[in-house]
Amino acid sequence: MKSSTARLTAHPGLQEIIKRDGRTAVYKPEKIRRAVEKAAVQEGESTEIAAEVVGRVEHQLRQRFQDIHPHVENIQDLVVQALKDMGYLKLADVYVRYRAERSRVRRATSGLHKKLEQIVRSDARGVEANANVGGNFSAKLLMGASEAFKEYYLDAVIPEHLAHLHRNGDFHIHDLDSYGTTINCLQIPFAQLWKREGINTGYGWLRRAKRISSALAQEAIILQANQNDMFGGQSDPRFEDAGVFVPEAYETAAAKPASERSRSEQELIDEAEREAYQACEALVHNLNTMHSRAGSQVPFSTVNLGCPTNAREKMLDIQFLKAFNAGLGRGETPIFPNVVFRLKSGINFDPGDPHYDLYQLALKVAGRRMNPTFSFMDSSFNAPFQDAVSYMGCRSRVIANRHGEARPEGRGNIAPVSLNLPRLAMASAGAMYNKDLMDFWSHLDGLLDAAEEQLLHRLDTVKELKVKDLPFTMGQRLYMGSENLEPEDSIWEAIKHGTIAIGYIGLAECLVALMGTHHGQSDRAQELGLEIAAHIRRRCEMIGDSHQLNVTCYATPAEGLAGRFVAIDKNKFGMVQGVTDQEFYTNSYHIPVYHEIGIADKIRLEGPYHKFHDAGHISYIELESPVEQNPEALETIHHMMADADMGYAGVNFPIDECEDCAHHGILDDEHCPACGSPRINRVRRVTGYLSYVHRFASGKKYEYEQRTGHQA
Ligand SMILES: [Zn+2]
Repeated sequence: MKSSTARLTAHPGLQEIIKRDGRTAVYKPEKIRRAVEKAAVQEGESTEIAAEVVGRVEHQLRQRFQDIHPHVENIQDLVVQALKDMGYLKLADVYVRYRAERSRVRRATSGLHKKLEQIVRSDARGVEANANVGGNFSAKLLMGASEAFKEYYLDAVIPEHLAHLHRNGDFHIHDLDSYGTTINCLQIPFAQLWKREGINTGYGWLRRAKRISSALAQEAIILQANQNDMFGGQSDPRFEDAGVFVPEAYETAAAKPASERSRSEQELIDEAEREAYQACEALVHNLNTMHSRAGSQVPFSTVNLGCPTNAREKMLDIQFLKAFNAGLGRGETPIFPNVVFRLKSGINFDPGDPHYDLYQLALKVAGRRMNPTFSFMDSSFNAPFQDAVSYMGCRSRVIANRHGEARPEGRGNIAPVSLNLPRLAMASAGAMYNKDLMDFWSHLDGLLDAAEEQLLHRLDTVKELKVKDLPFTMGQRLYMGSENLEPEDSIWEAIKHGTIAIGYIGLAECLVALMGTHHGQSDRAQELGLEIAAHIRRRCEMIGDSHQLNVTCYATPAEGLAGRFVAIDKNKFGMVQGVTDQEFYTNSYHIPVYHEIGIADKIRLEGPYHKFHDAGHISYIELESPVEQNPEALETIHHMMADADMGYAGVNFPIDECEDCAHHGILDDEHCPACGSPRINRVRRVTGYLSYVHRFASGKKYEYEQRTGHQA
């Protein structure tokens, strides 16, 4: 009996009982009677036995609680005992289950109340949101709903053993608050949309665009409208497709050397470039100001570009990069969209390539704004798709397809689940840093079984959704396979083209727990790290084979997760040096941010992991300052990354900007050195997107503070 009883001296015990919240209440035998009657009715037994149960319980109470109050749980235990003694075993069982159910609900509401209270008081510690959510009323409303939905799914929808693994921190079910209402993300098929007669946002029709300015205005609206149907990010897999809206005459005029153009040709070029620049400028502004989710956040948007096929497309890429580099109204660094520049030898990557100049421009912009990030189309796993692979800023990658064409457009991830690798390692048999690997592998396989079951359950749950539940994504037929679906149809025919993914957190801490060093510290650890990643990938493919599903392996970004897992594990395993002694676990396969390592070594060690993570991967290099004046350095780093078979990478550095006078650089003081303003925005990259430091979730904030620069 785990309940507590309070000692009272003078009172006879039976007049009052102790409630669960610790307060006392008057003892009422009719409460026992009613509960037993309820169970009896449910089991088809006579309700008359209730009176006898009350008699037996009271007899026991008088014996045991002469001068102390019984706890409500003591009474319930006695009820069960009485039922058993009377031979009503099945009824006792029903009563026990009824109690368990009630306490589940109670636990849910009491935890929920605490979280709601934190949200009301803007003290959302423990309510880990992502770095893109603001703190206004709508945001709080959304956070409250999110917490309530999480409890609902864990308590009432997800099988209990899987819900337990989530609560217990063995794995993490991502975007739990949206478990049964929508799916993750989409690479929007803009090329197709540009050919359509129009598109309905739900509040009216957008007519087919005729000019680049109206097309890119529509692009922002489409990204926003689709964000409202999904919990994850939205991307434009190939921005250049909007080049069809640049006048065709631009092509011939631009093909001539400037000296041979007629005056009207030159005017046409100037006018087309001016309009494209303004359209791109408006797109960037729109994506940083328009709201989604009832005004509580801006859409998570990503734009892929860099491999144009004609002069109109190339001009559009150039104008976009220029507009992005100019920044927002006061020159601030745009947080959105995330920009991904595709690199491919023969197109733009090497001197002599036809669009090498475009890459040079991208390098300059990246050195000032931390965007674009760069994707490598020649890597062993991207090359089979020519230059088609696109990345979403969250690092997601969706390309291979068991059910149709392997392309990004019209497809996305449905949902991931992430494993807590350090936990597995610590729970394996063996001494602290010398674990039994056989035991670890069998633990890992057990957890992979559960992850498979969890993803299949989620898929079964979202299969129930109908086209009308995602009115824009499916209703406007953005998703591959949704072309012939009607509002009442299941979305399955579309989402079978999507992916489900298994990811993980903390390979570095896992390796330390297993063998005492992580992969930045020893070759043996690197070898084992690669073996673990390969094992998880193989397992994803096996699950895909046996269920005919697109199952992929994910390098989890771990934003809210970074602090959650380690907090739980600290309670279970105490302070384990190099494992639980930080406030976060390291992102996926990354070398820990606090580990001192040179640029070349970081790239050499993380590169080989990219190929295993077909659901998405990224590597970062941390620099001490912007590299605006030194684009060659960035170019050198890119070639090292390409040589290491990386697929996607970013270079990070601090960007501090004065909100009042647009002065920028590394502003160490609390006040702007130019105008004295205290309003300094500190822009940093967090898990794939830029954000302001003051918006980081707590685990991420700590991780950021521990980051150490990588030296050449
Ligand atoms: Zn200033």
